[in-house]
Amino acid sequence: MGDWYSSIWTERLLQLIYPSTCILCGAPGRPDMDLCTGCFEGLPWNRHHCPRCALPLPATQPPGLLCGPCQNKPPPFTLCRTAFRYEGPLPALISGLKFHQRLQLARVLGQCLALTIQRQRQTPPQLLIPVPLHPRRLRERGYNQAAEIARQAGRDLAIPIDESSCLRIRSTAPQAGLEKTQRRRNVRGVFAVRRLPAAKHVAIVDDVVTTGSTVNELTKVLLKAGVQRVDILAVARTG
Ligand SMILES: [Zn+2]
Ligand SMILES: [Zn+2]
Repeated sequence: MGDWYSSIWTERLLQLIYPSTCILCGAPGRPDMDLCTGCFEGLPWNRHHCPRCALPLPATQPPGLLCGPCQNKPPPFTLCRTAFRYEGPLPALISGLKFHQRLQLARVLGQCLALTIQRQRQTPPQLLIPVPLHPRRLRERGYNQAAEIARQAGRDLAIPIDESSCLRIRSTAPQAGLEKTQRRRNVRGVFAVRRLPAAKHVAIVDDVVTTGSTVNELTKVLLKAGVQRVDILAVARTG
């Protein structure tokens, strides 16, 4: 009980000393979140999407229907969920985290991802696996943005994260600007599983899902290694 009280008071005290500030407009943030209520509600939440791959769908399409690509060729993962559509402030937020050292963005993006998972009724994964960076890229950047997002989401959801079972064994050209087939070829053979993750149902965590080439490739490698179910969790999904 004492610990509980003291942690609540420490949190309140920190809130007084370092109040959260909205990353979008600078107004005071919601409790323990760097977004004000107005900006939080105005974000492009990915609410209407393909139940399998999270592709944003037009509001006119009845809910629960698979998108065309999933009907033609289902992806290797069981399901994908993303907090947002990749539009509005999302491209700037993701690139701020990825390329401009704005590490504090991982907190709010990870929190929003965790809220998305809490809101839905699917069985939560037992382990979060951030998409690994090649060691050279990791040295250049100093951190893996997917791992930073996973760490925050894992803390909020009380799900452990696993940063060591999977490796990126080959450095690749950036996926941006490549066509779908080129992207698929670009990521073939880039991942390896060093040891079987300590859970049967895992989720791969990434910042943005575009064509799905990267997460599809890592999913296949994990399934081949013996994982039974792989979900995808990402901050945003392109349309
Ligand atoms: Zn705001
Ligand atoms: Zn789909």
